[in-house]
Amino acid sequence: MKRAKPQEIKTKALIIGGGIAGLAAATVLEDHGEDYILVDEYPFMGGQYLRHREEYIPRDTETRKQGFALLEKLKGKENIWTSSLVFGCYNGNGEKAVAVSKDGRVFLIKPEKIIVATGAREKFLPFPGWTLPGILSVGAVQALVKTSGTLPGKEGIFAGTGPFLLAAAYEYEKAGGRVLGIFELNPLAKLLKFLPHALDKEKFKEALRYLRLLWSRMKFGWKVERAEAEGEKIKVVMSKGRARKTLVGDFLATGYGFSPNTEAAQICGCEVEYKPELGGFVVKTGEDLNCGDGVYACGEVTGIGGARKSLIEGKIAALSLLGKKDEKLLNQRKRELAFARSLNFVFSVPRDLWKKIPDDTIICRCEDVRMGDIKKVVEEGFSFLRELKETTRITMGNCQGRTCFPIVTEYLRAMGKKPEPMSIRPPLKPVETGIFVEGGET
Ligand SMILES: Cc1cc2nc3c(=O)[nH]c(=O)nc-3n(C[C@H](O)[C@H](O)[C@H](O)COP(=O)(O)OP(=O)(O)OC[C@H]3O[C@@H](n4cnc5c(N)ncnc54)[C@H](O)[C@@H]3O)c2cc1C
Repeated sequence: MKRAKPQEIKTKALIIGGGIAGLAAATVLEDHGEDYILVDEYPFMGGQYLRHREEYIPRDTETRKQGFALLEKLKGKENIWTSSLVFGCYNGNGEKAVAVSKDGRVFLIKPEKIIVATGAREKFLPFPGWTLPGILSVGAVQALVKTSGTLPGKEGIFAGTGPFLLAAAYEYEKAGGRVLGIFELNPLAKLLKFLPHALDKEKFKEALRYLRLLWSRMKFGWKVERAEAEGEKIKVVMSKGRARKTLVGDFLATGYGFSPNTEAAQICGCEVEYKPELGGFVVKTGEDLNCGDGVYACGEVTGIGGARKSLIEGKIAALSLLGKKDEKLLNQRKRELAFARSLNFVFSVPRDLWKKIPDDTIICRCEDVRMGDIKKVVEEGFSFLRELKETTRITMGNCQGRTCFPIVTEYLRAMGKKPEPMSIRPPLKPVETGIFVEGGET
């Protein structure tokens, strides 16, 4: 067996992530005639916000219109790589080499500068039964509907927190499904604090469209108590104080906001900091979005704030990389950050709920670690993530903590412990072993 020789490529800039932030950065570099490569692990560019079916392009908001214009501009270019996963970054001879898995081979891209725009993933508040078939993430329901028009069932229940619940429920119902109820965890009185930010013209129009269709089925201050299978259906028990409500649907979609995907930035040498007001661990940057040593970060990785923040930050990061600055964009970013702080504060999970997760609830699906296992270790006096990993194997499974790390972080915080970042090492995500062997099967 012979080791495969990776193909080395030099470029001025590598952009990791082709969501709206990465696309905005790429377009700025394109306009300046700069040499760059943009890679995304998905088979399509556009990330979460611009996900769509071939035959239908939604241009329902100004930000989406701008996003699709970026996609159109970059379409078909050879330096735009889809199905290309960044799984490592190595330092040697004063340069960085970013390892990319593409077409069953390894490419080592040696960029002078890097822009990380790897977006976010969903967060969860586990409850007994949350790993059953029929319980999906809100993002999964939306992805099914947006990319193929497939419905996960005829009647769905949506529960969790955040405006994304409403957006996904709206898209599901417009595609032919029936929303039985939307259960927002936070009380209406708290959500009203978000109103000044929601009055922004674009966001207000979007929210109004959703509310017109779904308001009568929205409930506030309700939490998922448990879920169980009922034949082919799913039975969900909701609670609000002492009140209980049972619903039976084809599926339950849950989601509790987003958590930044900081791993690629960390492996490229950036630091992260814990900022609950921005969604959890975020990449630490200056105003110019530089996070040190020729690396820049933009979009959801610097704080959960939505597509418009990502669009603005993509432009700022690319301009900074070119040694330029645009005051107007920097001011727009400040406004988006204020929106982000309000969003993450209002749609947060009350701290005591993390402590109330029942002991037999699965927290790490990959390694089958239950809440009781974690509580026991913490009660014994262990408080660092490293210790929890060693004793329970939490965050050590196939998904490398993507789902359970934010849950454990919030639990430890609720227990008065200091949140710690995960240590990151390659491969960032599982890759086929065949890519490392000459002529290897993948
Ligand atoms: C499931 C989901 C659905 C969402 N839907 C909506 C919505 O409908 N409306 C809305 O306003 N907001 C939505 N959001 C919020 C969304 O994050 C932002 O609005 C917007 O998409 C952020 O843009 P971005 O470019 O920062 O990140 P993203 O759009 O997430 O793009 C990041 C890109 O980086 C790529 N990537 C990540 N890691 C790697 C790697 N190691 N190698 C190569 N590529 C990598 C991903 O494949 C992805 O395409 C959603 C978020 C999630 C998680």
